[in-house]
Amino acid sequence: MHYKIKIWLISLCFLSPLTPYAFEINDGHIHYNQDVWPMLSPEQAINYLAENNIQRAIVSSTPTEGTEKLYKLAPGRVIPFLRPYRNIRDQFTFHSDPTILNHLKQKIDLGIYAGIGEFHLFEKHKDTVVIQEIMQLAADYKLAISAHSDYATILTLVNLQPNVRVIWAHCGMDHPIEDITQALKEYPNLFCELSFRYNMFDDDEQLRPDWKKLLEENPTRFILGMDTYIPRRWAALPEHVEFANGWLEQLSQNTRQKIARENINNWF
Ligand SMILES: [Zn+2]
Repeated sequence: MHYKIKIWLISLCFLSPLTPYAFEINDGHIHYNQDVWPMLSPEQAINYLAENNIQRAIVSSTPTEGTEKLYKLAPGRVIPFLRPYRNIRDQFTFHSDPTILNHLKQKIDLGIYAGIGEFHLFEKHKDTVVIQEIMQLAADYKLAISAHSDYATILTLVNLQPNVRVIWAHCGMDHPIEDITQALKEYPNLFCELSFRYNMFDDDEQLRPDWKKLLEENPTRFILGMDTYIPRRWAALPEHVEFANGWLEQLSQNTRQKIARENINNWF
């Protein structure tokens, strides 16, 4: 398909009328990456979040100027997180690249950022000096961390700086619930964002009993996330919000309110 037509079709998806949903939510995982800019202007992105009942969102972008554009327009709606990625390539090397630290310091000096992340870090690279320095920066500037990581790596991060709030993006994806339960008990600075955590549900989109119990027993430790990491996820945002509404409804009112909205409001 011709590129321009494709963009136009995707734009139509973005602009189609939206059904109002039951809950106002705060989102813990929005990206406004460069590949979506031609299809969705900053104004459209902000309006689109509002139309989908997303009151506030943790936003991070590659490059981070995407986040700054949204923040400038709607500082009350955007909670800026700083990615250690100046470009897409940095995603694979940042953990061992000391020049990333200068990039982070310069951007932190703007005074708008509430956290560092989302970054992708796995066991092989979890013990580098650069990672230790990034965690130290988070502690020094009282910034949260958002990490897409395996279990061993997330434990390293929460141990490195026990006073830094570490948000585990995707809550380990499909990592066993037993370990997550244990880690939440052991590390009060660990928190979970729930995008792509699909095995919380059975085939009828009902929360599995063990997950329902974990959420009800730890309502202050979980947040929602839509993870708009590619244009298609932006286009499908209404469906993702609707899906979240469906499972939030299965929780008690107190737990639902905390996960849907209050936790993020309390933190930032
Ligand atoms: Zn992400």
